[in-house]
Amino acid sequence: MCGIVGYIGNKKAKPILINGLTRLEYRGYDSAGIATIENDDISVIKNKGRVAELEKVPGIDTLEGTIGIAHTRWATHGKPSNENSHPHMDNSKHFAVVHNGIIENYHELRDFLQNNGYTFYSETDTEVIPNLIHYYYEKDTNNDELRILRAVQSTCNNLKGSFALEIISSYMKDKMIVVRKDSPLVIGKTATENYISSDIPAILSYTKDFYLLNDFEYVVLSRTSAEFYDANLKKFNKRLENINWSASAAEKEGFADFMLKEIFEQPKSIRETIGSRLTEDRKM
Ligand code: GLU
Repeated sequence: MCGIVGYIGNKKAKPILINGLTRLEYRGYDSAGIATIENDDISVIKNKGRVAELEKVPGIDTLEGTIGIAHTRWATHGKPSNENSHPHMDNSKHFAVVHNGIIENYHELRDFLQNNGYTFYSETDTEVIPNLIHYYYEKDTNNDELRILRAVQSTCNNLKGSFALEIISSYMKDKMIVVRKDSPLVIGKTATENYISSDIPAILSYTKDFYLLNDFEYVVLSRTSAEFYDANLKKFNKRLENINWSASAAEKEGFADFMLKEIFEQPKSIRETIGSRLTEDRKM
């Protein structure tokens, strides 16, 4: 499990995403990628290797979009390669997804989707997610503003394992959807922007106001708002927390020193390191 960054606002997303990925580098990773909404389409640029190499990929400097998602990958399914890097898109190229975590039942979901005409281009567990979203989106005959959110909810209800997800769509050009289960994800808010990240220090230079997400809280983000929905898609209000840490205190996440932080982090570190490699039927 590595890192996720996202941005929705009025600035160019690419430099913010790259900056966030660089700040998450300490988590370790094997590949990196970003996707932005450019006019009517989604542009994806991804690469095996370091964030510094991603920045050299031709075309990355032409990205002008103000909404984007980004990822550093630590491969759990499929080798580190350009094809297996995130973001992943569905076959119709209307949905792009970054995912931290592991989908334990991806074999079965992949078979289901292949039987329904979908093709897979990577070896990852993740690629089932954008295609399932597309599948549920197409099945839904109710074309209201929650149609994509319902497709995301139906998809998540079918996923076994852990996930932090950012989803953008060319059907929803001014919004982004995020959700998590057993993988970290926070949202930093300003009046005109939302920043998303796997952890607070990566985006603390932009804002001190954060939503700390719990499992299965679906968030529809626009530039100026964050709307929260519970697992049944019932809307609720979420408290914005003011994180009053300096940058160096943020690295210590409120602990007096790094030693204490590391001691208290041990259960979480162990859970996040081996948890994604265990499944219900395979105990290591
Ligand atoms: N399981 C996904 C993959 O192998 C995501 C890994 C991650 O969390 O970086 O592509």
